Amino acid sequence: MKIEEFNFALTEIGITQHIKDIEEILNVNVALIEGGRQGMKHSPFYKVISQQLRILLTDNEALFQRVPSKKIEFSPLNKVFVEYHGGTKGVDLNNTFDLNASKLDLESWLDQVIMECVIPLELPSEIRCDKCNNRIRLEDNSSFGGRIYINKLGSVIRFSHDCGKNSSFDFTNYQGDMFNWYTIEYFTIRDVIKIYANKNGGAHVQNSLNYRNFYGAHLGDSYLLVIAKYLLRNFLNNI
Ligand SMILES: [Zn+2]
Repeated sequence: MKIEEFNFALTEIGITQHIKDIEEILNVNVALIEGGRQGMKHSPFYKVISQQLRILLTDNEALFQRVPSKKIEFSPLNKVFVEYHGGTKGVDLNNTFDLNASKLDLESWLDQVIMECVIPLELPSEIRCDKCNNRIRLEDNSSFGGRIYINKLGSVIRFSHDCGKNSSFDFTNYQGDMFNWYTIEYFTIRDVIKIYANKNGGAHVQNSLNYRNFYGAHLGDSYLLVIAKYLLRNFLNNI
């Protein structure tokens, strides 16, 4: 005979124990980052922090959602952004949360924008629709709704043209004029935790990172640290 079903339910005491374990893991890893020989920017311990923040805050069944006897609310971000370089900016790392403002529930707190990254790119000044062969001046067309794909295989813009066709323009070997263009990517607290945990070594390593995940991972680590310290100071020792 084989047992088909015999489950042990996680009680609130069990959830609390998991949260206490996370508190200990975060405490040790924050100390390892802040005292690290390699300097805070290159510490491997951000990976551990991202994975524990994911379990606590952003997983589908985040532990903070599962403490029935406690209503856990969070201080909003300060709206003061500091510019890092070339228009890329983020909430001030020295004054990240507004402890005097009214608190937010977990989902609203996670959806706050914590970084805005400017991604610069050179694009062809003029492209052609591969269906009707008409020219399109990209440089003069700020509302052009194409999507850009740049990967090992080449560089392509895909778009829906006025001729009614879905078109593409391959600019891998384009020789004409280029112009400087940029896009702005917004990262919420949720994005910063999930990108690091899921793509950059928290729980998984991707073979390649698209530009959004690359920026998210490389600028997000400092925020993982301030989020961990905020949680340690304000909740974890009271759960
Ligand atoms: Zn066309």
